[in-house]
Amino acid sequence: MFRDIHRPGEDGIPEFKTYVAGKWVFGERLSDVVSPIDGRVIARVSILGKEQVEEAIAAVYEKGREEIRNYPGEKRVKSFLKAAELMREAFDDFVNVLILDAGKPKGNATGETKATIERLEKSTFESRRLLGDYVPGDWSEETLESEGIVKREPYGVVLAISPFNYPLFISAAKVIPALLSGNAVILKPASADPLAAVLFTRVLELAGFPKESLSLMTIPGRMMDGVVSDKRIRAITFTGSTEVGEHIIKTGGIKSYNLELGGKDPAIVLDDADPELASEKIVKGMVSYSGQRCDAIRLVLAQEGIYDELRERLLKKLEGIEPRNPLEDEKAIMGPLIDGKSAEYIEEIYRDAIAKGAKALTPFRREGNYVWPILLEVDREKVGELRAFREDVFGPLTLLIKVRDEDEAVRIANSSRFGLDAAVFSECERRARKVARKLEVGSVFINEYPRHGIGYYPFGGVKDSGVGREGIGYSIEQLTTTKTIVHNFK
Ligand code: NAD
Repeated sequence: MFRDIHRPGEDGIPEFKTYVAGKWVFGERLSDVVSPIDGRVIARVSILGKEQVEEAIAAVYEKGREEIRNYPGEKRVKSFLKAAELMREAFDDFVNVLILDAGKPKGNATGETKATIERLEKSTFESRRLLGDYVPGDWSEETLESEGIVKREPYGVVLAISPFNYPLFISAAKVIPALLSGNAVILKPASADPLAAVLFTRVLELAGFPKESLSLMTIPGRMMDGVVSDKRIRAITFTGSTEVGEHIIKTGGIKSYNLELGGKDPAIVLDDADPELASEKIVKGMVSYSGQRCDAIRLVLAQEGIYDELRERLLKKLEGIEPRNPLEDEKAIMGPLIDGKSAEYIEEIYRDAIAKGAKALTPFRREGNYVWPILLEVDREKVGELRAFREDVFGPLTLLIKVRDEDEAVRIANSSRFGLDAAVFSECERRARKVARKLEVGSVFINEYPRHGIGYYPFGGVKDSGVGREGIGYSIEQLTTTKTIVHNFK
């Protein structure tokens, strides 16, 4: 399936083409793809030159846009089901690429591949979201003799920009609803681990989507300004850091945006919570994929009555959890961080917290880009000063804070500039729901850690965590606009 899209380099390392204007082509140059596991170059990808970038945009705009609109819904659905079948055939290739390229533990890599296949299949059920509305006019004197039909229409060309942490699933979760709703797409994967997106593009091509309805833009983020501001692109769906999201919205001008940005997810543990359940879920939410998840738990706000017991259980559960080489340990929970710079940043954030009075409950340990889980105890009055609270920390570092009551927990949680998700642990549904109502976030999980799986529920944040919602069905709404046709009978 993937044989024709790469060649062996002089040193035997595979060199991948990219997909532009319906063809697999080499770029202007090649860029090394380095594995975070051991720093080895595992592949090279094509980086597009200026003219190829223009060719990619022109192809989707001039041809792809029409081709996908004329590719009926019934065929789109069949193509997605075919793509799911092809992904099952190439399952191990996807898992291996995610392990090598993103440094994912095998469990995470397998889960991400399965979730992508399920997303391909379940998305087809949601094609009904493309239905419209009929609006009778007789509710207003002015429109008495008319009626309106409201249709959902694609934007035309959608630019999908994905981050490094779910290089397959997030890319897919943008491309699938875009194509399903009749948009042509330019996919720009993260430069740190672009291989899964290259393979996924191949799968979609083989699944029969019109050749020019999709282009793969493998170029560094800093070279994207011209693409982002291009008027031929009418919608951008971006997942990544708040800083880059903000830059994109300023550069892009008038377009439709779906921005899924950073988070600072709190877990609020009330004194009537089950401490075993809460500690188990919190540790999972903290360490899975080394905390390189926007929905990782970064703050634990525990009420006085449960604080000591929770702290003890958290520490017990963290014992023995350490980053391992995913190639040597198939059961690893944590692997490396994506690169050395990210690990250095976590160390900086840790040192800042200690300098400002936080107490380390776990011994700090870092070897290269492998970072051990960090739990810091912080005074509630001081937490706002910490960079760990103010910045979008992307690693296994969590703050534990004692709070008096629900109101204090909510006040601290809501003082964050982020508002992605929150978790509330309590055995009393009424108390938990009262807290959930007050939290300024996109999703609240009761007695569960924030996790979004295949995107069954809508997903997205408020405040600096972004605008818009993703999800199997919600993404379709996000990537379409409405057109109203008013029929006057007079
Ligand atoms: P990033 O912001 O550095 O990069 C994201 C993507 O944007 C990459 O493809 C990158 O190449 C591209 N990019 C960089 N500069 C650009 C520019 N000027 N114009 C256009 N594109 C540009 O993020 P990352 O390090 O890949 O991922 C981690 C970040 O993603 C974290 O901040 C995390 O919170 C966030 N994230 C959010 C969600 C969510 O759903 N809210 C999910 C996953 C990750």
